[in-house]
Amino acid sequence: MIIMYNRVTNQLLDKIISIVGNNEVIIDERIKEYAHDMTEDYNFPPEVVVKPQNTSQISEILKLANEEKIPVTPIGARTGLSGGMLCVYGGIGLSLEKLNQIIEIDNDNLQATVEPGVITQFLQNEVEKLGLYYPPDPSSKGSCFIGGNVAENAGGLHAVKYGTTKDYILNLEVVLPNGEIIQTGANTLKNSTGYHLTQLLVGSEGTLGIITKITLKLIPLPKYRLLLKANFTSPYDACKAVSQIFQNNVLPSALEFMEKDAIDFGQKYLHSLIEDTQNIGAQLLIEVDGNHLDNLYQDIEKIYEVLLKFNLLGEPILADTYEKQEEIWKLRRCLGHAVKGTTIYKEEDTVVPRAKLADLLAFVKNIGKEYGFQSVCYGHAGDGNLHVNIIKNDLDDKTWKETIPFYAIPKIFEFTKKLGGTISGEHGIGWVQKNYMPIMFNKTHLDLFKGIKRLFDPNHILNPGKILPN
Ligand SMILES: Cc1cc2nc3c(=O)[nH]c(=O)nc-3n(C[C@H](O)[C@H](O)[C@H](O)COP(=O)(O)OP(=O)(O)OC[C@H]3O[C@@H](n4cnc5c(N)ncnc54)[C@H](O)[C@@H]3O)c2cc1C
Repeated sequence: MIIMYNRVTNQLLDKIISIVGNNEVIIDERIKEYAHDMTEDYNFPPEVVVKPQNTSQISEILKLANEEKIPVTPIGARTGLSGGMLCVYGGIGLSLEKLNQIIEIDNDNLQATVEPGVITQFLQNEVEKLGLYYPPDPSSKGSCFIGGNVAENAGGLHAVKYGTTKDYILNLEVVLPNGEIIQTGANTLKNSTGYHLTQLLVGSEGTLGIITKITLKLIPLPKYRLLLKANFTSPYDACKAVSQIFQNNVLPSALEFMEKDAIDFGQKYLHSLIEDTQNIGAQLLIEVDGNHLDNLYQDIEKIYEVLLKFNLLGEPILADTYEKQEEIWKLRRCLGHAVKGTTIYKEEDTVVPRAKLADLLAFVKNIGKEYGFQSVCYGHAGDGNLHVNIIKNDLDDKTWKETIPFYAIPKIFEFTKKLGGTISGEHGIGWVQKNYMPIMFNKTHLDLFKGIKRLFDPNHILNPGKILPN
């Protein structure tokens, strides 16, 4: 389908300014900051950045854009890894940064209502002060917005025990592309009333509506955490140990995998030699949490039993204080920045049933040999979620731009699907993965997606060019 959009004219700019005020409209060189997220080196500036301060201003802007056929792209904190906020058709970049208030933390019902521009870690810190816990914690939690997390259905380190963002969203206030405002559900833990629009909006990547208010479920904060760090000589052994830990009746609160190259990248980035990686194949970080320390030590023993069946490099290290644990997590949390800040890369967010992780890793390494690329792999192994960073190094441009995306990556995705997995566990499809969607879905399935999009957004003004293949 070819869609013709109109440009943002001076008259339209005047109308936008009359809605949000002069100070909340950017058309000068500051627009460059809103032209990219953290996805490779893509750059698509909007024609204008608009920073509304409330829902009714957003509604007015969308009404106007819908009438004038101007594309609107919601913009969060721009930490996305699939190019979801890129303004690929120009138009209005609608930044949610001014909607940044925690409206209420409801201690009676263990809920919080927040605006979409609240930084995830800020929310976590605020609820922790009341002994409460909001578990979804992408490694970008210090900078990403909760609205972006909802739009991407973000995961993170603790998804293995606590689930992803979708498991905590009770109700959303959403502005539809025609400017109408709806509540998608109710502020209740249960809801079987009609189609589940809340869950449809979660992970919709800003293509169906703009999320302007979020009611979240909270849980009591676990009192204790223990963290075990284990080095393996073989990365495949590390992967195989993952599913055996669960089989031994332990549900870790985090279970992360880093192969040797990832550890090397992290250490270089932190300028600190934490590990001698010469003989390391990979490292697992295994955390357990709960309210009874005795039980946690029993879990650690059970994990230990499993680890001893594999070729470990040295003794696993137990971190039993917050400081020691943070010291260990530091390396894992920096990996995204370590790889993205220092290389030309493409990141794939593959996820498979966790017992198939070793097969996926072996396949990725073989494809790397076949096409001559280095891959740096790490991720949420407990979820079967492997982040595959393909590094350009000295590959020539033609190979990088044509062979890798059109031949090597499809092979990885086809194999991922064959293992029962899928092509994105938590980063979304956005702009960069959309043309791989036919690997996952047949025409009937894709037509359903297109029909949903048409129903919400008949003029295709909201975040066009995302999720659905060309
Ligand atoms: C170093 C690093 C580590 C990361 N680690 C993780 C991780 O562990 N787990 C994980 O899941 N992700 C991770 N990410 C990816 C990223 O942080 C998440 O996808 C995050 O949810 C994006 O939030 P954002 O506010 O930056 O959104 P943006 O990147 O600005 O936007 C993302 C998408 O959401 C849409 N959007 C934003 N706000 C709204 C709204 N209010 N209404 C409707 N649509 C909206 C945008 O249009 C876009 O499609 C990481 C990223 C980096 C850079």
